[in-house]
Order: sequence, then structure tokens, then C-alpha cells
Amino acid sequence: MEPTAAPVPTPAKTPSAPKSVLNESRQIERAVTLIKMGARMQVLESETTLSYERLIRLYKEIVGKSPSKGQLPFSTDWFLTWQENIHASLFLNIYEYLDKGASLDSIDALTKAYKLYLEQVEAGGIEPLLSFTRAWRLLKFVDAAMLELTTCTRCKGRFVTEPYENARHFVCGMCNPPARAGKSKVAGSLSLD
Ligand SMILES: [Zn+2]
Repeated sequence: MEPTAAPVPTPAKTPSAPKSVLNESRQIERAVTLIKMGARMQVLESETTLSYERLIRLYKEIVGKSPSKGQLPFSTDWFLTWQENIHASLFLNIYEYLDKGASLDSIDALTKAYKLYLEQVEAGGIEPLLSFTRAWRLLKFVDAAMLELTTCTRCKGRFVTEPYENARHFVCGMCNPPARAGKSKVAGSLSLD
């Protein structure tokens, strides 16, 4: 396959039924929402049925530049690092609350939960550490049972942990911050109640 600048002739298609046109406009709407939230290409490819070329064009149109090519590392480590863990936990608590209450499409729940996460973090004057793409990835890890929420034995808040965390002895990063952390703004302002 050689890349070419010349337009590729597409085979004649049978006229689309109204239903598929509707579906396509929904897919575009969804892609636009995701792009505006800051989603990277891997999210768009996973959550819409639009072609890669179509998504690239949409992305460029909305963001004004090409999407970054890098993939997120396939590792749960980021979510288990101290401050990152507090942000991830806050987001996941919000997501699970929304997911339980309303019958939302999973992407609607993700975008809603992410907006609420941003509001809460910004209200505390804290820089949001969790990107939209990371939030999406977190939900994938939870679906795959590679991460879950465990209740802290001290504060009773629920935090992102590995699935085999011993719940009887688990103490979260807010109750037991790393020695070098000192008095952090995050620990002071975020609450998972
Ligand atoms: Zn705690």
C-alpha cells in the first residue's frame, strides 16, 4: 500500500437507508464530542465506527492540527501512583455513581463523569492530572478486572487499587501519603466522600 495524494475512486455504493444515515450522524456527533473532550485517536477508533481517515479529518478540522501518534502505555502503574491515584479514584467514584443512577450510554457516562471530575478539581484550584484519554483507559482496566475500587480502612473513601489488594488492611494515599509528599494541596482539597 503506497500513500498517494490523488483521490482514490470509491466503488459505487448502494444508496444508504435513512437508518444508516442517522447512525452515521450519531457516530460523527459522538466523535466530535470525544475530540472536544480531548480524546486521542485510540479512543476515537475504539468508540466510533468511523474510518481512521474520517476520524483524522474530523480531528484536524476541530483541533486545527494532526492528532499525536503516540499510544498510551498499556500499564496500570500510572493509576496507582500517589497523586494520580487520588485523581483516578475521584473520577471513578463519580463514574460509578452516575452509572448506577441513570441508564446512560457508557460514553455519555464517561463524558459526564469527566466533566464533573474537572469541575471538582478546578473548584479546588488543582490542576487536573487525569486526561480524558486516561479516564477512558481507566474504565477499560476496570472492565478487564485489572483495577478496582477498594475501601480505605481509615477514611472509608474508595480508591483505585489492584484487584488483589487486601481490603482488611488497605490504607489510601490520602490517609497515608508518601513520606516525601509533605502537606499536599491535593490531599487537602480533594475529598472522596
Ligand atoms: Zn483513607
